[in-house]
Amino acid sequence: MNYEELLNVALKEARKGFEEEGVPIGAALFDAEGHVLGRGRNRRVQENDPSAHAETDAFRRAGRQKNYQDTIMVSTLAPCWYCSGLIRQFNIGTLVVGENKNFPGHLDWLREAGVKVIELNDARCIELMSYFIEHHPDIWNEDIGVCKPSK
Ligand SMILES: [Zn+2]
Repeated sequence: MNYEELLNVALKEARKGFEEEGVPIGAALFDAEGHVLGRGRNRRVQENDPSAHAETDAFRRAGRQKNYQDTIMVSTLAPCWYCSGLIRQFNIGTLVVGENKNFPGHLDWLREAGVKVIELNDARCIELMSYFIEHHPDIWNEDIGVCKPSK
């Protein structure tokens, strides 16, 4: 399996999100042969939907699948708790992570559950995300559930 090629599909989604002035995280769900089942991106800003993370967006667009064990979830960034929970809930067999420098995620927690985790450390993903975090720290903190104390 050419995981770089799969990542390119997710990265394309992340860049679309960036152009839409949303959080630039993309994801796609593939079958065991590497065919796209669904692709998506974080649309929290675009749709004012806090549950529209890249992974959940791709998952929903893939529609119902009989079995997730053979599927591959690819995300440009290590998944948050919410999306990690999705992976465990449906027993998605493989997770490909574009990068985990800007956000470490919970990859060990997924490995413990038997998920095959592949880290690509992709420079394009790192650059896109770090640019966004630097310029929109408030939107980013909201995304990962870090709330400012209310005054
Ligand atoms: Zn998430």
